[in-house]
This record gives sequence, structure tokens and C-alpha cells, in this order.
Amino acid sequence: MLTGNYQTFFSKAEAFLKDAGTEAGYCMVAIDIEHFKLFNEWYGILAGDKFLSHIEKVLVEMTEKYSGVSGYLFADDFAVLLPNCHEYLVEIQEKVIDYVRSVEENVGFFPAIGVYVIEDRTMPASAMYDRAVIALSSIKGNYANRIVYYQNEMHERLADEHRVIRDVQVALKNKEFTFYLQPKYNIVTGKIIGAESLVRWIHPEKGIISPGRFIPILERNGLIGKLDFYIWEAVCQNLRRWLDAGHKAVTVSVNLSRVDIYTMNVVECFEGLAEKYRLPKKLIEIEITESAYVEEYDRVKSIINDLRGAGFKVSMDDFGSGYSSLNMLKDINVDVLKIDMNFLKMDEGSVNKGTGIIEAIVNMAHRMNVMVIAEGVETENHVRLLREVGCTLAQGYYYYKPMPIEEFEAIVAEEDKIEAAE
Ligand code: C2E
Ligand code: CA
Repeated sequence: MLTGNYQTFFSKAEAFLKDAGTEAGYCMVAIDIEHFKLFNEWYGILAGDKFLSHIEKVLVEMTEKYSGVSGYLFADDFAVLLPNCHEYLVEIQEKVIDYVRSVEENVGFFPAIGVYVIEDRTMPASAMYDRAVIALSSIKGNYANRIVYYQNEMHERLADEHRVIRDVQVALKNKEFTFYLQPKYNIVTGKIIGAESLVRWIHPEKGIISPGRFIPILERNGLIGKLDFYIWEAVCQNLRRWLDAGHKAVTVSVNLSRVDIYTMNVVECFEGLAEKYRLPKKLIEIEITESAYVEEYDRVKSIINDLRGAGFKVSMDDFGSGYSSLNMLKDINVDVLKIDMNFLKMDEGSVNKGTGIIEAIVNMAHRMNVMVIAEGVETENHVRLLREVGCTLAQGYYYYKPMPIEEFEAIVAEEDKIEAAE
């Protein structure tokens, strides 16, 4: 019999463990289906319900066959208490995957299975389940390994993530976030054509914290939108200030996280900001990382069309970093391709091929009438290579590192260093 909710499942699991003999070890298992919501969208709610009933059935069979307790908890979350044996978990996995395949071949609605091997049977079942869920949450997006066992470090990592999330909320209130600007440079005219805003956390005790420490955590938890909007607004405020001070206007780009595409109305946000700060829209460029184009193709495509239709610029960030399809480029209209910085990282053995690839990207961009800029330009050799292949726009430490706003302002104030946006 399946228990209807968490509490019943936990009580049954505790009662079971109390009575179970000590010769076998047990494990607490948390199971969910990756992208289950999408399954419902694709095949309909009825098919989704059938899928869930099938999983229930598999789990009941498992507990009848090997002894244990199973439970359907919520949405697509299941739990099962079983003797600790890896093969049993593989059996569950295979039975669920077989079912998915019977609905449609080659789709990836696979179960993720988080396992906590029970050491202390007197621990509350809910705490065992929490640990199984911690293991489960480390699986998302990892298709090579779908059964993961809880380890103590996972708890540490999760606690650290929670700390960062909490601290970010406080830091937003205390206005500890700002952005640095990294100029984008025309290597032929020797002038700055724009800048990219890069968020920085100025922590009162820890000093400057770079985005790599907190952005992935906020993204994983769906909380990046608030910070992104904060930075976009700060960028717009600054653009307004520069215009008011009579500086030449340069385009400033902002980064948009893949997650923003789900959690906010991106187009409305930018429209609202441009209006609030009375900004020509061409001064705002939105960098969307390449992986987003692949994962959320239709959505991203329509957002880009709307943004560009409204007059904003859009660039495809990290182009070539591993996800792009050339076919996709045919249907998606962006203003700028930003060549991923890894292309410039070449050793002697790969330099000929690498140069050829960059040249091909540059030519392709020109043919498509799309601007192209190389990221991560660090050395004179890089610059020589870019000149050779006809890539005139560059961003990187060789020219300028990301810098505080005031430093950038001092440069913008020197008219002859700037190529203003037409
Ligand atoms: P990205 O968009 O690819 O940005 C470029 C990163 O490369 C920046 O790191 C920049 O400081 C660094 N960089 C620039 N020139 C060079 C160079 O010549 N060599 C090397 N090795 N690195 C260079 P940063 O500032 O640490 O940002 C890392 C990533 O964090 C960004 O990668 C972007 O994906 C994300 N990010 C930054 N600011 C924001 C933001 O406001 N919102 C969102 N959602 N993401 C942001
Ligand atoms: Ca970027």
C-alpha cells in the first residue's frame, strides 16, 4: 500500500525499521523524474498521471519482492525504503526507463535516484529522506550517473549554498552589489566601442567576491533574476548619468542568465528600464549565453525577436563553447557573436586548426551581417591572430581588465578614446 503523504510514509518507515531484523542493512531512497513538468506538457496531464502510477506500481512491487516501504509524496517525488542493495536501485531505474521508452523512444525523462544508506535506525525517517534528497539534488543534469549516494560533504556543500543564498539577500538590501565595466575595443581604430557590465559583490569583510562564487548557486536555485535586474537597473542609471553629463554614448552590455528566461518577463523589464531612464535602446545590449539558445530554443528565439524589435541589441555570448549548432544560427537573429575565449587558448599543435576555426566564424558572421567580437584577448599574439583573420573587435585583459565604474568614466570622458554608438 502506498502512503498518501510525507508524514504517513515517515511513520511507516520508522515502524518498519523498528521491526526489521538487523541482518540486512537498509537505505532510504528519494526518486524524481527530471523535467517531469515538461512530460506533462508534451504528452498531457493524463499521460503524466499514468506515468506516476506506473512508478508507484514499480515501487510497490519492489517492496513486496524485497521488503520495505514505498511512498508517493508530492508532484513527481517518490520515496522508498529498501534493503541496501545497488542492484535493486538499478532495477527501479530500468523499469522506469523502459516505461518512458514505451511512451516514446529517445526521450530523456529519466529518474534521478538519491540514496541514503541508513547507519542509525533511530534517526527520524524525515532526516534520512532529507539526506537522500540532498544526494538527489546533485544529480540534476548529470546523465552519466543517475544513482547517487549521500556523502557528508554534500551536506557541507548544501549548507554553504544556503549561506550564500541568505547572504545575497542581505547584500542586495545593503546594496553591496555593483558592477565593473570591461571595455570592448576596436583594434583597427584603437577606440572603445562599448563595455560589458560584470557584477561584483563588495563584501564588507571578505572584499570583492567574483560572480563565479555566487551566480551558479543563484541560478541553480532560480534566484538569479533579482540580482540581474538590480544590475541591469544600475547600468541604466549610469547610462543616464553619462548622457546627462554630456559624455559620448557607448553601448553597455548586460548579462542575462538562462534562468531569467523562465522567471521574469525579460522584454518588459528592459522596456521598463529604457523608459524609466529615458535611454535610447540601442545603448543597451543583452548578452545571452549560447547554452540558453539550445535549451530553450523557441522561448529564446521569441525573446530575442521581441528585444530586437523593440530596438535593443542582442549578442550570443560564449559562442562555440560547446552547445551551438550552426543550423540554429540560421534561424536566430542576433546583432553580435561573442567568440568564446577558449578558442584563443591554443598550443603549438592546435594553432593552425584553431586559427582556421576562428577565421571561419569571423567570415560566417560577416556573411550573415552580424558583428563579431573575440573574448579573452590576453596577448600580442592573440591580437596578431585577430588581425590576420579580420576580427576587428576584441575584449580582454590585453586591452582592459574589468574596472570600477569611476575608472571607466574617466576614460569615457576622453572623447578621442571613444567610438560612439551610431
Ligand atoms: P562571461 O559573460 O563570459 O564574462 C567574461 C568573463 O571573463 C568575466 O569574468 C571577465 O572578467 C573575464 N575576462 C575578461 N577578459 C578576460 C581575459 O582576457 N582573460 C580571461 N581569462 N578572462 C577574462 P567574471 O567577471 O568573473 O564573470 C564570470 C561570468 O559570470 C561571466 O562570464 C558571466 O557569465 C557571469 N556574470 C557576470 N556578471 C553577471 C551578471 O550581472 N549577471 C549574470 N547573470 N551573469 C553574470
Ligand atoms: Ca558575457
